[in-house]
Amino acid sequence: MICGRFLSSLVSTVMAGPRPVVLSGPSGAGKSTLLKKLLKDYEGVFGFSVSHTTRSPRPGEANGKDYHFVTREEMQQGIANGEFIENAVFSGNMYGTSKMAVQAVQARNQVCILDIDMQGVRNIKKTDLNPIYISIHPPSVEILVKRLRDRNTESEESLQKRLQAAIDDMEISKEPGLFDEIIINDDLEEAYSRLTDVLKEEIAAAQTSKDS
Ligand code: ADP
Ligand code: 5GP
Repeated sequence: MICGRFLSSLVSTVMAGPRPVVLSGPSGAGKSTLLKKLLKDYEGVFGFSVSHTTRSPRPGEANGKDYHFVTREEMQQGIANGEFIENAVFSGNMYGTSKMAVQAVQARNQVCILDIDMQGVRNIKKTDLNPIYISIHPPSVEILVKRLRDRNTESEESLQKRLQAAIDDMEISKEPGLFDEIIINDDLEEAYSRLTDVLKEEIAAAQTSKDS
């Protein structure tokens, strides 16, 4: 019985279709920047898995587009109801990928992109989602700090927490087999070009199925 329920919860995470893509890496490395460009340039090919979070929206972020902004109680209830594929606490806030978020993209036959932290990567590895794992790194910790400060979205406390997580995660990323690809985001155009190159088979497959 437990086994059956366990299996059905795994199966229900995934629908047939193109292989999803996980983008991870330190906060401030440039994941959102690269991802937004990819979604714009390849409209209809990629779809973003809109996560839930308890953190407050930043200026310009829209509810339901960048995140589903929810309270801690709503998030905890959703987790208790089994609505999430994975969830984590990052820098004091809760984040999670709902089954609905992934299924909504897969129902459109698009390549689903998940922007998740290292705990999310570890937890997704335990599911049957089978994505391509890409980690985006800054050229150096000094540049990461500068980018995070210049973005002007974090308090000093949040910045320090993100920095510590970044240093830990960059070390963990080297673990063999954890990521399929590590992209250093120094020059944005070069990093983007590397990203589209890594994803060229998925892009071609999605474009072919769109045209047929
Ligand atoms: P993440 O989503 O990984 O937290 P962002 O995409 O928000 O990171 O990028 C962090 C900041 O760095 C943003 O202000 C963004 O404009 C800037 N940025 C991203 N990539 C580059 C780059 N290659 N060179 C300079 N600045 C960048
Ligand atoms: P931010 O607050 O900068 O948007 O995101 C902070 C961190 O949370 C980033 O590393 C981002 O990848 C991660 N994150 C965003 N959504 C999710 C999610 O649904 N699950 C997990 N595990 N991490 C997430």
